[in-house]
Amino acid sequence: MQPKVYEVDEHKIAPDKIDQHAHFVITRLREAGHTAYLVGGGVRDLLLNQVPKDFDVSTSAKPEEIKSLFRNAILIGRRFRLAHIRFGKKVIEVSTFRAGATEDAGLIIRDNEWGTEEQDVMRRDFTINGLFYEPESQKVIDYVDGYPDIEKRMLRAIGQPDVRFIQDPVRMIRLIKFCARFNFDIHPPTFEALLNCKSEILKSSSARIFEELLRMLESGASKAFFHLLNEYGLLKALSPVLSKFLEKPDNLAYQLLSVIDDEVRKNSAKPLDRSLLLSTLIFPLFNEHLEEKCKSQEKLPHLGQIAESAHRTIDEVFTPFFSIPRRMRGIIGFLMTSQYRFIPIDGRTIKRPRAPRDSLFPMALHLLKVRSEVQPELLPHYTLWTEAAFASHEPTDTLDHAPRPRRRRRRRRRGPDEKPM
Ligand code: ATP
Ligand code: MG
Repeated sequence: MQPKVYEVDEHKIAPDKIDQHAHFVITRLREAGHTAYLVGGGVRDLLLNQVPKDFDVSTSAKPEEIKSLFRNAILIGRRFRLAHIRFGKKVIEVSTFRAGATEDAGLIIRDNEWGTEEQDVMRRDFTINGLFYEPESQKVIDYVDGYPDIEKRMLRAIGQPDVRFIQDPVRMIRLIKFCARFNFDIHPPTFEALLNCKSEILKSSSARIFEELLRMLESGASKAFFHLLNEYGLLKALSPVLSKFLEKPDNLAYQLLSVIDDEVRKNSAKPLDRSLLLSTLIFPLFNEHLEEKCKSQEKLPHLGQIAESAHRTIDEVFTPFFSIPRRMRGIIGFLMTSQYRFIPIDGRTIKRPRAPRDSLFPMALHLLKVRSEVQPELLPHYTLWTEAAFASHEPTDTLDHAPRPRRRRRRRRRGPDEKPM
């Protein structure tokens, strides 16, 4: 099949927007006689006038050939080998053209056959992600009608949508991600397939889905994403408890996500900690659980019981499908419990707070800050605890940083004459 080709006077991608290192990689591959293009999300984002997160290269060169051309290349992946070419912190991912688009409606288990450039785009998920860009001639090469779909702002699966979703259910999450991020419409047959295949999501790898959820929390479009994820019925399959909670009108969780989204968009260079992001998502549910607990028992829970409840909420939200890393579970539990250290559940006011020396304290304070942007009545508490942090020289500018690892306290060695107490 002949692709449609779009010249620079039509697509108007400015050459200086192409990452220099990706350009260098493509040029070297072409000089060695291979075909090589920029592909996927990078091309899509350039056409949408957005800054691409990463630049991927697709080429006719085989992994060993790629490796022999670049000193800084390493081959990764056991099932499907691809090259990572490292430039300082940046990695350009280079993969060999692959076949793999079949119409077999089953989970994909084999996707490691080499193919032509056309086959390489046919196995990709959506038409907007199936474009090649050739930097030297500045041509956009389109086998899948992705270019007109970008113009129409339309999300359309490549191939038969239901088959493609069954083969790899993570594509449904990706569809919702692009819908939330770009506010595109979904082509009706693709949308119908999404609704028909939603329960398939439970057959996919929970680690991959967890990673997509985390990436969306970091994306600046998390509110829209979780809204759509719930509206289209996927969240109900993944986390029934969270789904039911988010259905309630005027949900505080969405308001908190909106604050987080603003923060991410304003400060995209400094990523927020993933445990903080997850705490923002589930804190309102935890708060509701705690209120129910308070109503059902005579005595108010103390901090130890609050921490137990926090862990129970975390498990209820995640364990039906995901397996949340233990360390992350511990941090989220701490961040949510700390909210009741800051503002005691019995309504007592803390006049002279002392900031704990815990390295997670700044992050817990950050969660309080996010909450007080939605609930201004919490602001005086946030101010009080921020001042306490300054007073104890706790570096408040580490608010957005990952926590420092806890130091194990060493037992003092007993001297030879000392007796145990
Ligand atoms: P982002 O901007 O979030 O990185 P992306 O589309 O670039 O979005 P990547 O995970 O970087 O996503 O994937 C790069 C490309 O690989 C995609 O644009 C798409 O062409 C292809 N791709 C990724 N995941 C799938 C999948 N599950 N099925 C088919 N193709 C996929
Ligand atoms: Mg990408």
